[in-house]
Amino acid sequence: MAGFLTAVLTHASDCDRPGDTPGPACFRCRRRDDRRVDTGLTEEDVVWRCLACGTERQISNWQGTRWNLSQGRPSN
Ligand SMILES: [Zn+2]
Repeated sequence: MAGFLTAVLTHASDCDRPGDTPGPACFRCRRRDDRRVDTGLTEEDVVWRCLACGTERQISNWQGTRWNLSQGRPSN
């Protein structure tokens, strides 16, 4: 679960990734083939949605975490 959330955060906040990069696999539907989630950013939250199982969540208070890539990668 923690790994999934960090993958969602990095996917949503990484402005440098190609636009067609698939999202992380939904943690709730391991047995399905097409379970990549859509991620997005609002002003304050990261949101993700799984089309396969309909799960939709938002993640608040993430901007201080080290997974926030919206300011660019430190190594670049
Ligand atoms: Zn799902």
